[in-house]
Amino acid sequence: MRNIQILFKSRPKGWVDHSHFEIVENEAGEPGDGEVLIRNLYLSVDPYMRGRMRESKSYIAGFTLGKPLQGGGVGEVVKSNAADIPVGTYVSGMVGWEEYSVAPSEGLLTVDPATAPLSSYIGALGMPSMTAWIGMKSIGKPKNGETVVVSAAAGAVGQIAGQLAKLNGCRVVGIVRSDTKLEYVVGDLGFDAGINYKATDSIRDALANACPKGVDVYFENVGGEILDAVLANVNPFARIVACGMISQYNLQEPDGIHNLMSIVGNRVLMQGFIVTDHMDRLAEFHAEMGALLRAGKVRYKEDITEGITNAPSAFIGMLKGQNFGKAVVEIAKP
Ligand code: NDP
Repeated sequence: MRNIQILFKSRPKGWVDHSHFEIVENEAGEPGDGEVLIRNLYLSVDPYMRGRMRESKSYIAGFTLGKPLQGGGVGEVVKSNAADIPVGTYVSGMVGWEEYSVAPSEGLLTVDPATAPLSSYIGALGMPSMTAWIGMKSIGKPKNGETVVVSAAAGAVGQIAGQLAKLNGCRVVGIVRSDTKLEYVVGDLGFDAGINYKATDSIRDALANACPKGVDVYFENVGGEILDAVLANVNPFARIVACGMISQYNLQEPDGIHNLMSIVGNRVLMQGFIVTDHMDRLAEFHAEMGALLRAGKVRYKEDITEGITNAPSAFIGMLKGQNFGKAVVEIAKP
């Protein structure tokens, strides 16, 4: 069986481009004992993958040069040597960036296309959505009447984080880079206000206008000057959910932050977290988010790129903010 693969060819210094990937054609592998062969249908395009291109130590192992990139995916089992996963089962889990992946059955999650669209298992019912859910539940804890700011608000995590805060009765302000994304978060998702940070001279002033009562919770996805501007607008006892800082991922030298003293005077809690530390709450997340999605109380947008060979473009584009909604590569239709 033909297996087109996207290999990690060279380590980027700064911005990622096509020279860091190699597209090759190989034969699909054979599953060993306890393994299955998955026909990949959807691949998740995620910011943390940029971190896996680095050599430095991190919370997740780096990609190996010359091997396929890896990430979350959804696919159909087409060969099985695992008693618990018969051929024809749809699964989600970590797979290679390739048409067919061999994977151990443990670590794969059986998913049901009758319950939710298959692509949502790497988005609104998957890792990014759980990130928004756990970040809000365990760190942000937004209360009725509070003001919540979300950056990268039209993205995979941001769109869910903002809606969860709305459901808690908060005033929600989204930060995005275009008027189209702004219209989406305010018009479609029901955020109370938004800021197009590319169209404002001062994010700090724009935040002061959009948050007349100050910021109680900041769901941090981008870092850099946006974090600095939020720090200048936080209320006493604000919580900053340090989820990610994508604006820094391609920089050789991180940006300096000027308003850190605000954390002391305002007794701000700023806490980082990694969603995979919370997998003991996966069933709770699925039950709660599944119900919200079915009831139409949480909505989401996916940005689908077709074709495995276009996966590098999807990744490069996502790092530049070109995705509108959860970035997904569709390799094949179910
Ligand atoms: P998104 O779908 O939000 O896509 C990335 C978005 O980041 C872009 O669309 C863009 O939005 C924004 N962005 C890119 N570059 C910049 C920049 N220089 N300045 C400001 N914004 C920028 O990705 P995810 O929702 O998957 O991830 C969002 C964040 O959550 C990331 O930081 C990621 O690392 C983090 N994350 C953390 C996890 C954890 O366990 N802690 C798990 C999953 C994700 P815009 O066009 O609005 O600028």
